[in-house]
Amino acid sequence: MEIRIRGVSKYYFSQGKTIKALDGVDLTIPANQIFTLLGPSGCGKTTLLRCIVGLEAPDTGEISIGDEVVWSKEKNISIPPEKRGLGMVFQTYAIWPHMNVFDNVAYPLQVRNLPKDIIRDKVEKTLRFVRLEGFEKRPATKLSGGQQQRVALARALVAEPKVILFDEPLSNLDAKLREETRKELKAFLGKLQITAVYVTHDRIEALALSDTIAIMRAGQIVEVGSPQKIYFDADHEFVADFIGRANLVKATVRAQDADYTVVDCGMGTIACQRRDFAIGSEVTLCLRPEFIRLVRGEGAAGKNVVNGRIESLVFVGEAYEAEIRVGNELLLAKFDSDVNLSAGDAVSFTLDPAHCLLVSI
Ligand code: ATP
Repeated sequence: MEIRIRGVSKYYFSQGKTIKALDGVDLTIPANQIFTLLGPSGCGKTTLLRCIVGLEAPDTGEISIGDEVVWSKEKNISIPPEKRGLGMVFQTYAIWPHMNVFDNVAYPLQVRNLPKDIIRDKVEKTLRFVRLEGFEKRPATKLSGGQQQRVALARALVAEPKVILFDEPLSNLDAKLREETRKELKAFLGKLQITAVYVTHDRIEALALSDTIAIMRAGQIVEVGSPQKIYFDADHEFVADFIGRANLVKATVRAQDADYTVVDCGMGTIACQRRDFAIGSEVTLCLRPEFIRLVRGEGAAGKNVVNGRIESLVFVGEAYEAEIRVGNELLLAKFDSDVNLSAGDAVSFTLDPAHCLLVSI
């Protein structure tokens, strides 16, 4: 089901101060996608999720799930959380330690007073789906972190919601398990016709899991797009910087031609992916470290060749991370681990215009 959020604001009052947790949010979350709210701590992700669920009442605006308005300030509509047809998975799993796996998963059906045999069928089907068949009698506390997370997922799915919401569900798992569980979760969700809204401040998780990412800052949505669009083609400096490591170089638009936007910056004149900026505009040139390509052997001539000097070099296993000094700019670059370089070496590198992204400041 599609979720529509229109003009939603939410204020908190604390110690005599007003905190604008959400500031006029307009957002459409498409049906049957994994949609991630990503942003720095305190930007309002959890508040927005809690407004969708119905655990918080917005101060303005309207929220619809499918055809139903679940919250409207103007129309005085407020559907309680249990009537919104949603499933939710929290960071802390919120599974009950005194219950076994079966009872934890059965709980949402038991409170609806469904007949026992129907509950058994649905719980068993859901446990099979999350690959926990055979664990029915196991106390919930005697499971690994990843298994507990799957119990939480099964409990959220058992009542067959049309929308499932996740609030940082993997953040209590160690790095390796987190990666495995992320893959598993994507596979589980891919098999269901379900809208998933996912909150995280982990950019890798967002990139790996999502169909669409919305980047938030200070209670507002800054940009919405596919992981590739957000990583390679962001419109805003904040987004380009937040989603991955980036060199941000101040630049001035010098010329527009059919294929490129040409800028002047501390590295000289650089041809960039074409963007509609007026000549003379102050912009930011965003360069990902992995797209700084060393020119080996004899120096090269041509478009976007830059000369610099290695200021530092750190071996990180699969690559070297280098800082390259070019005039006043210090650029972070990522090179294959077989390069033969040392601090102090003069280097030339090229920048593919397709990966020279101009963003507004
Ligand atoms: P995090 O990634 O750290 O969980 P978040 O993006 O989910 O952050 P929210 O928890 O939605 O952010 O908080 C948004 C803003 O509202 C923050 O400034 C936060 O301090 C404030 N806030 C949240 N809940 C309350 C509350 N109950 N009372 C007062 N202020 C609150």
